[in-house]
Amino acid sequence: MTATDSAKKSHFGWAATLGVLLGKAKAVALTLLKMKGLVTLASMFVTLLIYSSVLGWGAAALFIALLFVHEMGHVLVNQRQGIPATLPLFIPFVGALISFKKFPRNAEQEAWSALGGPVLGSLGALACLGIWALSGSKLFLWGAAIGFWLNLFNMIPMSPLDGGRIAAAISRQVWYAGLIGMALLGLWHHEAFFLILACLGLTEINSRLRPVSWHVWAGVAAIMFVAFLTWQAWLDLLLVLLPVLAAYLAWKSSRKGGQAPSEVQVRSDAVYFAVPPAKRAMFSALYLGLAGAFIGALWWVNSLGAFTR
Ligand SMILES: [Zn+2]
Repeated sequence: MTATDSAKKSHFGWAATLGVLLGKAKAVALTLLKMKGLVTLASMFVTLLIYSSVLGWGAAALFIALLFVHEMGHVLVNQRQGIPATLPLFIPFVGALISFKKFPRNAEQEAWSALGGPVLGSLGALACLGIWALSGSKLFLWGAAIGFWLNLFNMIPMSPLDGGRIAAAISRQVWYAGLIGMALLGLWHHEAFFLILACLGLTEINSRLRPVSWHVWAGVAAIMFVAFLTWQAWLDLLLVLLPVLAAYLAWKSSRKGGQAPSEVQVRSDAVYFAVPPAKRAMFSALYLGLAGAFIGALWWVNSLGAFTR
């Protein structure tokens, strides 16, 4: 340390103290971020607070528990496969998600990781069914119904939903069907969130299958604009900015001579999505079996009046 340094220190003692304090705060923030469990817990708690105002405490806690079980299915499979991923983060009105710190090596790994959620999630729903059978508690019958619905919804074969990530190991063309299904579901039920999910699916198709032209994006923007106008969902109109922005970006890149993927990209994609026919058939069977079981279970609990609380 030089003389000027020590002089500075004595003159600006308060600044040094502040610096130490800021340093401490930063260290605490960093430790919090490292203790990922805490972030998961905090996001869970905030979501619980918000959902409980709509559903009541019991149902909100049950709903979050079912989300948690589903996400832990992904976490467990990822751990087994040695793919580092985060613990789940809860986002009110969106659900919960985990993110990969390293992307899976191939579509097969991605599909196994995606299957983990609905498989463990269905056990959560079955556990609710068991508690209902033993106790007769209507809350748990509702929990089972919500659990089956939640996991069925996630099976819609559209990336980034689980169904889409399973479909990645079957055929990426299935994404189009999932996307159209999601869009129709949104238009039918007047759900802006589903339309935004469909937009996300189109972004995935754009980056992982084939470039989406600006005409398509402009069409999506027009459909969303008309839908939100007729629903008088004024706030949702802001969401139209997303496909408009996507249309602008696609238009800009088309003026730069198209957005054809590079040869390297095409080759690495071919390796990533190369799944042997026998495994494709196995994933198809797993997908159809699981989705069929969810539909059957949902039909059954609905006939018991599970959704009317
Ligand atoms: Zn999932």
